[in-house]
Amino acid sequence: MSNAPTSTIYGPVRSWRVGQSLGVDLLFKTSICSFRCIYCQLGKIEDHTAKRDIYVSTEKVMADLEESNWREADIITFSGSGEPTLAANLPEVIHAIKARTGKPVMVLTNATMLNDPQVRLDLLEADKVFCKLDAADDRMLQLIDRPVPGVTVRSIVDGIKALRAEFKGYLAIQAMFMPQNTKDVEAFAGLLNEIKPDEVQLNTPLRPVPKGWYIEARGNHERESAPYESYELKHLSREDAVALEARLRELTGLKIVSVYKD
Ligand code: SF4
Repeated sequence: MSNAPTSTIYGPVRSWRVGQSLGVDLLFKTSICSFRCIYCQLGKIEDHTAKRDIYVSTEKVMADLEESNWREADIITFSGSGEPTLAANLPEVIHAIKARTGKPVMVLTNATMLNDPQVRLDLLEADKVFCKLDAADDRMLQLIDRPVPGVTVRSIVDGIKALRAEFKGYLAIQAMFMPQNTKDVEAFAGLLNEIKPDEVQLNTPLRPVPKGWYIEARGNHERESAPYESYELKHLSREDAVALEARLRELTGLKIVSVYKD
């Protein structure tokens, strides 16, 4: 694509959870992830893998940072074109960006790699880690998240619990709810009670899903401005989301926030 971005840094974009967020993309070359979520905003995961590698050099990321509007950001967020813990230079870049900017750093992860002690070690300098958990059983995991072979709900939850024990920062669970998985709310609450996160963020796919992989989709495009063909998924109504939020709060006593909150 001729107008494709050449920078590993994008934004800042407004996030409903954390304010002005500057994105860092350590995958960049293509979309690379150990999940293929049906709602993925990247559209299509081209490289479905759990292999860790250096996909873009730390030097390029730091040069791109200097060209960006990083001073306008409230927080620096690692997500980009896939699963950031697959980037083997993640801890090096976190360290360098914190030293350069003095800003807090957040990592959005699908949590599939957290069983690896090295991956957990690599996250320790982050200020916030938001872990994806969409499914309460393996059937739903296969339906919604479509992981690489070997990943189960139990392996994900055990990995998050291990991180919870070692990580001193803010740990949130991000859950994408659709009509398919709202029935599992009791089992889901049971997993949350095991993990005991600082916060649970309820989301539903309000954003369009591109029909193919477009690197531009790594930002927070709104429907009107999305520069790609996209389609909509069934999502929860505001009423359903409010009811789910109340039920989860009742079952867990945890802090629950919802995408529908003003
Ligand atoms: S974990 Fe994120 S990047 Fe990976 S497929 Fe799911 S939504 Fe897309």
